[in-house]
Amino acid sequence: MASGRRRERALVTGVVQGVGFRPFVYNLARGLGLTGFVTNTAAGVDLAVQGPGPACDEFFQRLRSESPPLAVIHGLERQEEPPAAGESEFSIRASQAGARRTLISPDVAVCEACLAEMLDPGDRRHHYPFINCTHCGPRYTIIQDLPYDRPQTTMSGFEMCPSCRAEYQDPGDRRFHAQPNACPVCGPRLWLSDARGNELEAADPVAAAAAALAQGRVVAVKGLGGFHLAADALSEAAVSSLRGRKHREEKPLAVMVADLEAAQRLAALDPAAAAALCSRERPIVLAPARPGSGLAPSVAPRNRLVGLLLPYTPLHHLLLAAAAELGAWALVMTSGNVSDEPICLGNAEAVCRIGAKAERGAIADLLLLHDRDIHLRSDDSVVRVVGGRLRALRRSRGFVPVPLFLRPELVPDGCPPILAAGAHQKNTLCLLRGREAFLSQHVGDLDDLRTLEFFELTAGHLARILEAEPQVLACDLHPDYLSTRWAQEQGRPLVRVQHHHAHAVAVMAEHGLSGPVLALSLDGTGYGPDRTVWGGEMLAAAAHGYRRLGRLRRFCLPGGEAAVKQPWRVGLALLDEVYGPEEAASLALGLVQRRGETLPLISQMIARRLNTPLTSSLGRLFDGVAALCGLREEVAYDGQAAVELEQAMTMPDEPGYAFALRETDGLIELDWGPLVEAVLADMAAGADCAAVSARFHGGLLAGLAAWAQAGAEFSGLDVACLGGGCLMNACLLAGLPRRLEALGLTVYTPAQVPANDGGLSLGQALAAVAAWGRGLVKEGETVLGPDTLEKPA
Ligand SMILES: [Zn+2]
Ligand SMILES: [Zn+2]
Repeated sequence: MASGRRRERALVTGVVQGVGFRPFVYNLARGLGLTGFVTNTAAGVDLAVQGPGPACDEFFQRLRSESPPLAVIHGLERQEEPPAAGESEFSIRASQAGARRTLISPDVAVCEACLAEMLDPGDRRHHYPFINCTHCGPRYTIIQDLPYDRPQTTMSGFEMCPSCRAEYQDPGDRRFHAQPNACPVCGPRLWLSDARGNELEAADPVAAAAAALAQGRVVAVKGLGGFHLAADALSEAAVSSLRGRKHREEKPLAVMVADLEAAQRLAALDPAAAAALCSRERPIVLAPARPGSGLAPSVAPRNRLVGLLLPYTPLHHLLLAAAAELGAWALVMTSGNVSDEPICLGNAEAVCRIGAKAERGAIADLLLLHDRDIHLRSDDSVVRVVGGRLRALRRSRGFVPVPLFLRPELVPDGCPPILAAGAHQKNTLCLLRGREAFLSQHVGDLDDLRTLEFFELTAGHLARILEAEPQVLACDLHPDYLSTRWAQEQGRPLVRVQHHHAHAVAVMAEHGLSGPVLALSLDGTGYGPDRTVWGGEMLAAAAHGYRRLGRLRRFCLPGGEAAVKQPWRVGLALLDEVYGPEEAASLALGLVQRRGETLPLISQMIARRLNTPLTSSLGRLFDGVAALCGLREEVAYDGQAAVELEQAMTMPDEPGYAFALRETDGLIELDWGPLVEAVLADMAAGADCAAVSARFHGGLLAGLAAWAQAGAEFSGLDVACLGGGCLMNACLLAGLPRRLEALGLTVYTPAQVPANDGGLSLGQALAAVAAWGRGLVKEGETVLGPDTLEKPA
């Protein structure tokens, strides 16, 4: 053995399996003249290198800096060992059996190397829409079980041809152990079918689909995590026909363009937004639309923002290029479903649900199909840059299942796997395994059977691919959420977490805080332990419990759920509360005049509290103001009134409408009473919605800041967490932290995890962990609140 030789052993953890990590290690070690081995084990990638000290050091430095694109190194423990005698080469050893703690890569966009091959007429995969390699392509959506090997994926039916197999077996090849590796000879096939599912004769199905799109037809395109419905985004006729067939009259539709240059023609993209658009996660990026870009008005009616995304599958690249040749350089790409249903998955299912066999008539004229099955649906992710930071509005395809790594002090040793069932709307689940929090893809609104089935499939899938059987469950306090009922049926200890407490804990989890913090949960609606509808809450919150410090002044929701769809009910309820029924009926306000007939009925409902819950919801206050100023009295989708109210203004007008602070029931109340009177005075003076909105937003920022200051002084807390669906409002999300920081508070806001109900499961999971760590979790149910907050660690 030569002198000066060193042998180092290392365990690498993170996303290091199924991403080309072992061949990377192999090539790196051999290139540096090192001997040793690399292997997959239960704990991660185990490796040893032996050779001159400086070469070993260079190896470990480059291990981090040059690791494959999909690898995420989370831990790297180095240990010196006695050199092994007689070792003459570096080898990849067979994987060791046993329970593994693998991390599966998400589905990511096709890489540059594959794209170049696909466009090379001399390449054997020229124009092949399923080209992929170790650094790109489908993962999460095709894996059925572990270990992540081809037989356990939806590629199991395709046997590799000799050329593909040679690549697969060659450690020096970019496709070494690329499980979905395929080519035109041996892999999946693309075809075009009519709406009934009959294959159409087409030499080039992509060109035929592009021609149909350019003629204004709707084409269903099978993608990575489900079907898209595509239409020419520059043609008003095509887009409005798609909207009509999809029964989605108002909600904005996402638009795919070939590249960043085309995206810049449609929207003003700052560098952060442009980077997000081009990232390998390929989310939908919301950005200000450029007026006069040629985009059909029906893409995003009454909306200043447009949601853009770039191609992420090889098929998208081919289709966008072919359509652009025919003038259709921007395509609507919206999820392939009827409104509110989960996105379609299988070919036969697509024909039944969006093709000719659909109950309410075909949505798609043609279907671009293939025979690589999608095991698990995964919708497109949505992000937006607010306050200089990228914010996830929906965290799904491209991000899932990369976990959030929680700070060690947040998760006690020996904590069992915990599954949180999430919210009712925008549902996601969260499986906690040790310090890794795995948020699921977007499941959707749990009010139809299909979505519930998808929820259950996802729960089982997470447990299976992460090899973590949940021992404790967490869910919302709402007794009627299907997620709550499902959690109750599982026969495990269950931790019930109040909705707005969970919003706060989600933010704490993201930023590694254990609390207590001053939490502002600015939200639509959630179940309160006093059985009223909460939604504008100030809490002293730790992960394991909370105390309510303040709330928005309460008002009535006449008709309950109906008031959510019909903001005019909220507007009238605010007037009734401020002026009383008689005076309210005589107000010279457009809303009162238009709804004059129903006002006595609403007043009676309020007086007798008939189907009229009390609420402190800030989201509903936005709705009420939108109705008072005549902007929107009914909504077609969740949050529409608030979105349009925000977009009605350019800048918040400060100081704006005054809010008052008062003490009620031992709580610091933010009182909107003065605001209602001021809105009416402005309307009487002829103000328009833009002015009302600007003063509302300006007043709200100042009001929330004063409210938080009072809460901070009362509680002595100086760290604030902002969460809840109202932070979808960019004016609040960008403006409120600045104001609170000026008051001396340290402020945390959601970024990686959605502020809305899509992030709720993370908060529930961490709350359950903290409860477990304090011995609060017993058989049956544990409700977290003021009592559990007192429990010391
Ligand atoms: Zn590739
Ligand atoms: Zn092949």
